Amino acid sequence: MSTVTASEAAYVVAALLFILSLAGLSQHRTSRSGVVWGIAGMVIALAATVGLASRSLTATGLVLIVLATAVGGGVGLWRARVVEMTGMPELIAIMHSLVGLAAALVGWNGYLDVDAELSGSLLGIHHAEVFIGVFIGAVTFTGSVVAYLKLSARINSRPLTLPGKHVLNVGALVAFVALTVAFVASPNMGLLIAVTVVALALGAHLVASIGGGDMPVVVSMLNSYSGWAAAASGFLLANNLLIVTGALVGSSGAYLSYIMCKAMNRSFISVIAGGFGTPAAAAEEGEQGEHREISAEDTAELLRDASSVIITPGYGMAVAQAQYPVAELARKLRERGVEVRFGIHPVAGRLPGHMNVLLAEANVPYDIVLEMDEINDDFAATSVVLVIGANDTVNPAATDNPSSPIAGMPVLHVWEAANVVVFKRSMAAGYAGVQNPLFFRDNSQMLFGDAKQRVEDILRALDSLDAPVPAMAGTSR
Ligand code: NDP
Repeated sequence: MSTVTASEAAYVVAALLFILSLAGLSQHRTSRSGVVWGIAGMVIALAATVGLASRSLTATGLVLIVLATAVGGGVGLWRARVVEMTGMPELIAIMHSLVGLAAALVGWNGYLDVDAELSGSLLGIHHAEVFIGVFIGAVTFTGSVVAYLKLSARINSRPLTLPGKHVLNVGALVAFVALTVAFVASPNMGLLIAVTVVALALGAHLVASIGGGDMPVVVSMLNSYSGWAAAASGFLLANNLLIVTGALVGSSGAYLSYIMCKAMNRSFISVIAGGFGTPAAAAEEGEQGEHREISAEDTAELLRDASSVIITPGYGMAVAQAQYPVAELARKLRERGVEVRFGIHPVAGRLPGHMNVLLAEANVPYDIVLEMDEINDDFAATSVVLVIGANDTVNPAATDNPSSPIAGMPVLHVWEAANVVVFKRSMAAGYAGVQNPLFFRDNSQMLFGDAKQRVEDILRALDSLDAPVPAMAGTSR
């Protein structure tokens, strides 16, 4: 068998492994095997690509490939080992930016190094591929860099609202189409530089104009864009596996964006267009009334007397790494006969499924972990809700304030419960930068401090409530 046939066969195997990987990743139970399928597919893909390239490779070329693989693999391994769960979206965003940059560079290379055998309409198609690859790659690159800066709080997560922002976006798309037509008719570097600049600016503007609360959709949208950027590179490099893999990432990312849009009640089309259609409403600043505080001891008493408890975790639980004491608290209360359940918002935390992963890590039984839609009608009949480090996902302004930046986003209706205890360190706003009227409701009380420490305080207080009362001095004989 020739190297080419063997490599093409290996590509088919790798593509099948990637499909198996996606299927595995779609469920908790099978997600570990999904990751293993993905790694196996990538190893085969890498080996087959080097095999294909080796036909025309010099010794220096081979050394460079080995070096690049070692450096890339080493950096990837290092980052993946040290990244905190809460830092995953940033890491993903910066990786998307690399895919975008690579696609743009492959596009430029396709212009500088045209296959001499191409002519006529094939040459026209090649030039269109160059342009599309550079455009998608550059949009993904700057979009992902801005997403990284927002997610890592290096820049403000508030939406940038330039005058006529939709006109700017549409203008950039029109310019892209016009430049593509001109480039296919008469390719020249000036046009390629122009489309690169337009795409870089468009990517940065698309993501900068999106508010903090909508960032989950942005991350999955950039995931999709990076897939299409890779597919565009696949066409340019005539690499079937890159086309298949890019299409898999592009379409699964687009589907994830669709699911996220539904969860957040956003229009899919306006997301794709980067406009989002969110009114540029001013976030309500400052406090909106008096808030009440509660101590860990009083919370323990509230829980002791409760018949049903719902815990709604959020980003703060991840920051505090409070999942273990929270799981312990749930176990203790259930032992006492209290009905305990968890209510999970689809975008709680900083990545899809973030809370589910943390709770699974702490061995919370799956059957008491419910999705928002499954539990939202039950809050009204619940004695106590513990909001542990959640904010935007339990904000009633989303349902009753049409001018709020998060208006329309479905949220957990925690305020309908008899008592709500909110665990956080201060009165600061959530990720979307919007103040939360929940904190000022009559049935809400704030338990300030690090969520892990406060839950541990409650566990101790519950134990001391259980402890037998020492006999009073003088009453014993
Ligand atoms: P938020 O980010 O809205 O709020 C988290 C709260 O946790 C803050 O109010 C903070 O208050 C508190 N907190 C932080 N650290 C601690 C700590 N150590 N102990 C106790 N409390 C703490 O959380 P939600 O989960 O409710 O909402 C997620 C937000 O993130 C949404 O806006 C979502 O759109 C966005 N997002 C989600 C992504 C996803 O895929 N899931 C991706 C990107 C963004 P304080 O500082 O006062 O302690």
